[in-house]
Amino acid sequence: MIAGLEDTMSHRTFRLAACAAAAILSGLAAAGASPPGIEDQLLGFSSAGAGVELEREQAFDALISKEELRAWLEHLAARPHHVGSEWGRANAEWMRDLFASWGYAARIESFDVLFPTPKRRALEMVAPKRFRARLAEPALAGDPTSGQQKEQLPTFNVFSIDGDVEGELVYVNYGLPEDYEALAQHGIDVKGRIVLARYGGSWRGIKPKVAAEHGAIGCLIFSDPSGDGYTQGDPWPKGGWRSGDSVQRGSVADMPFHSGDALTPGVGATKDAVRLPLAEARILTRIPVLPISASDAEPLLAALGGAMAPPAWRGALPLPYRMGPGPARVHLELAFDWSLKPVHDVIAVLPGAELPDEWIVRGNHHDAWVNGASDPVSGMVALLAEAKAIGGLAKAGFKPRRTLVYAAWDGEEPGLLGSTEWAETHLAELRDKAVAYLNTDSVSRGFLAAAGSHSLERLVNEVGRSVIDPERAVPVLERTRAAGIANGDDKQRERLRGKSDLRIGALGSGSDFTPFLQHVGIAALNVDFGGEEQYGQYHSIYDSIAHYERFGDPGFAYVAKAAEVNGRLTLRLSESDVLPFTLDRTAEAIGEYAAELGELTDGLRKASEERERLLGERSLELAADPQQTFVAPPALDRVPFLEFAPLSNAVALFEKAAAEFEQARTAAVDRGLSVETRAELNRFLRTFERRLTSDAGLPGRPWYRHQIYAPGQYTGYGVKTLPAVREAIEQRHWDEANVQIRQIAVLLDAARAAIEEMTTKLEPPSS
Ligand SMILES: [Zn+2]
Repeated sequence: MIAGLEDTMSHRTFRLAACAAAAILSGLAAAGASPPGIEDQLLGFSSAGAGVELEREQAFDALISKEELRAWLEHLAARPHHVGSEWGRANAEWMRDLFASWGYAARIESFDVLFPTPKRRALEMVAPKRFRARLAEPALAGDPTSGQQKEQLPTFNVFSIDGDVEGELVYVNYGLPEDYEALAQHGIDVKGRIVLARYGGSWRGIKPKVAAEHGAIGCLIFSDPSGDGYTQGDPWPKGGWRSGDSVQRGSVADMPFHSGDALTPGVGATKDAVRLPLAEARILTRIPVLPISASDAEPLLAALGGAMAPPAWRGALPLPYRMGPGPARVHLELAFDWSLKPVHDVIAVLPGAELPDEWIVRGNHHDAWVNGASDPVSGMVALLAEAKAIGGLAKAGFKPRRTLVYAAWDGEEPGLLGSTEWAETHLAELRDKAVAYLNTDSVSRGFLAAAGSHSLERLVNEVGRSVIDPERAVPVLERTRAAGIANGDDKQRERLRGKSDLRIGALGSGSDFTPFLQHVGIAALNVDFGGEEQYGQYHSIYDSIAHYERFGDPGFAYVAKAAEVNGRLTLRLSESDVLPFTLDRTAEAIGEYAAELGELTDGLRKASEERERLLGERSLELAADPQQTFVAPPALDRVPFLEFAPLSNAVALFEKAAAEFEQARTAAVDRGLSVETRAELNRFLRTFERRLTSDAGLPGRPWYRHQIYAPGQYTGYGVKTLPAVREAIEQRHWDEANVQIRQIAVLLDAARAAIEEMTTKLEPPSS
């Protein structure tokens, strides 16, 4: 999901990026230390209750079977199962029946969503010589399901518009705003031209969006081998990495505007929902866009003239990377079938015996781009194993205290369709009842990674200490910490060694947590394993059973561990006396994000001043090759000192209130809570995340209501924390930044007042 490799590595890369940067549990740094003696207790449980819970978890673990995980994966990934496919529907029915056999009230909820599929795709180079792109992935002998071509969707980017365009080609690197600034310095403009971008550097949907903003008429995205190809290791089928013929499908909708069905933003896409006319759908691209393989990109790149691309733009194909424009000219033609298709969510409920109106929602998607053995089936089967094990405990007499809702979402790949439509349909009920949403997607060999609401950070750490790595025989949390220490800089090492808990990452988007966290305001987590797989098959026909069983998680040991971790999270949320949220971690994280905003502004100010000097002394111009085109970059506007005081004050008071609340809570629990106080405390904790949202949403994108975490408008999956302020600063809207600073301060003040009120109720009556 985040930074750097995200497109080549999928939504899971937040973990890989994090590994590389020494920042696992996908964030950096260590968080606050646990109080002494806490290790033998469980957050939210009495001592006696903790003993029962730990025994229950032993019994739960014993019910997880690796053989079953493998058999389920081989069934679900046996045929292509994208939105609207026969196998997708069959998988939903099969899982519904499994849940029912384990004692759940299981049903399928269906929605009708816009899912355009290709009718015509053509890409041809018309000058300086002719070349017709193959636009297909060949079947491979060592990969049996790769030959199921009749059932496979062709290679395409969903939510591209129809188009028939011809123009000169320009190579734009990752196609991010800064890449266009570099092109401008070479005097290159993409207006009326077709851009060729490589995957990586941001979520793919950002590439056509930025290209269109610069006047391009078409966009091609290719998988350069420098991303997930041979530079990482042997390509499939010898190794696990992407071959030259493999293509990354994927959505290019403007998901930072809203996720879910393009025609029903904010409401469920039920049969009789009021739908926007297609022309008013805001999340379609403005230009046609098509993904291609490295093999199809190579002749196009080789035919480009003009100046050499900057060193950082050069990939791993054996040719000089030039920017153009031309003399390569290409003709791109795309036409789609714009009909609605059904999505089938599987919803399986085990009602709570004591607190039926408090829901723990646990989800993973079941649709894939093609066979999807890794994405999503590896995560889906872990969820099934958890549900079966809890069903087994229930058959032996266990009655969950709170209600468990297991979900297998359809339509995640095109844009979180099934989860978003379900969340929008059940919005009022979720706001009232949801305790937390626990997401997974793909799982593979490697390190524990976690991101989400910081109120759940301590719980994740507690669970990470209680699950043992299958290959190293230490707690999975300690491998994550060790990787951070081994790969980190001195400062990161010191922080990771100094504290017992690790900081979890913040969530942007890229999987089904988005509607729950950012639209409804439910505390959410995304927790999985990975980083030691060979995964160059993301969104291709080669994300197959054969591939996963050699290079994903051959022994299914880490899939089983994902079930252990998420099973514990689910059970501890369900069975705790007092919900295991800790608000001091939320306060700490917000404090760090607020501090970053000041550093960001200072950095931009410095850059503006430096630009002014460079222009004044003509250094850039004099340093440039006189025989090449050079256009001096424009001067940057002066960066004023922003009015951070309201935010700084709000954060300081929030931190103080959260710390006092945690103390009062601990003391009150030690004294013993009355039934009423406990119920009130739990209601407060359950709904606290909603206080970090606003009904008006983020500026210009009201669907996103969370004011702490959002996907970036120019990063896609990548998170922007305190997004309203951060994006105003990044976009150099200084007045707007000051307005948003005051607004977030008001929101934090209101949340803090609620914390103080709850603290007062927890304090002993004064004598
Ligand atoms: Zn997925």
